Amino acid sequence: MIVVMDPGATRDHVDHVIKMIEEMGLKSHPIFGTDRTVVAAIGDKRNADKSSLEQAPFVDKVVEILAPYKRASLEVRSERSTVATSPGGFAFGERKIGVIAGPCSVEDRTKLIEVAHAVKEAGAIGLRGGAFKPRTDPYSFRGLGEPGLEILAEAREQTGLAVCTEVMDVNDVALVAKYADILQIGARNMHNFNLLVAAARANKPIMLKRGWSATFDEFLLAAEYIMNEGNDRVLLCERGIRTHESYVRNTLPLAIIPAVRRRSHLPIVIDPSHGTGHAYMVPSMCRAAVAAGADGLLVEVHGDPERAMTDGAQSLTPEVFAATMSELTPIATAVDRSV
Ligand code: PEP
Ligand code: MN
Repeated sequence: MIVVMDPGATRDHVDHVIKMIEEMGLKSHPIFGTDRTVVAAIGDKRNADKSSLEQAPFVDKVVEILAPYKRASLEVRSERSTVATSPGGFAFGERKIGVIAGPCSVEDRTKLIEVAHAVKEAGAIGLRGGAFKPRTDPYSFRGLGEPGLEILAEAREQTGLAVCTEVMDVNDVALVAKYADILQIGARNMHNFNLLVAAARANKPIMLKRGWSATFDEFLLAAEYIMNEGNDRVLLCERGIRTHESYVRNTLPLAIIPAVRRRSHLPIVIDPSHGTGHAYMVPSMCRAAVAAGADGLLVEVHGDPERAMTDGAQSLTPEVFAATMSELTPIATAVDRSV
């Protein structure tokens, strides 16, 4: 923490701040400038009381230097993490970029099994599909529930793909974890801290989607909730944020890739489907995400997007998905990765 003094602060005001910092069990390090004095407070931040320092006379502001998240931060762990989908299975964060593909929701057995084989053939390592769907409109299709999970498990058996599916409720964690390899926490639930804790305790990797109005720090703090339960297997998923733009469903900030790489050791996965809302934009955003250093992609693929029960407009056909995967190969090679 750095305490920035007002330009009019006297030596007494600075000494008062130094005394407060030392009473908190922290070391103080004043730097006297020509216009202003700043005092660095060094030590275990848990002892620090930022708000009381802010109220001390002639204090302009108190600035945090270290990230508020710890376990998710590069400050505490300097090597990049790898997150295995199952013991000995594919791991995100290694050289190979993990692509998880499949429909927005599980609609029926035949269609799901068919699309699972198609995405596997094209090079995906995981199968996505919601059995519990968070829908803004309560009258729309809300998923098949447990029968949907059974279909996903059958598809895994046939293809070997890791199953990534959403859990929406604390009470469903055990059920979803029984079938899933990766538990997805949706954008609408990123701030549902009880769900984060319950999902973390299932001891499965977590695909944590960023809330569409969450800041970068809030996103990382949500990851911290999971990691605080002793579960380090967090995949950060950028799925776009809400902005004033209307030519896209969400605005996809790919700059989060270098930002995550600078501040966190966790793998970063990009979801260009929700990130744009339009199938025609998805291949280019996949290419851009790979070029920028993404560790994974989450892509909606449907055998018949026009008739999809959810998110058809942003779903690729299996053919376009396969073509996109081929286009990713040279880009991945150029950035010393593979797909
Ligand atoms: C989804 O993956 O289908 C989904 C509902 O995503 P989000 O939570 O990002 O809206
Ligand atoms: Mn969807």
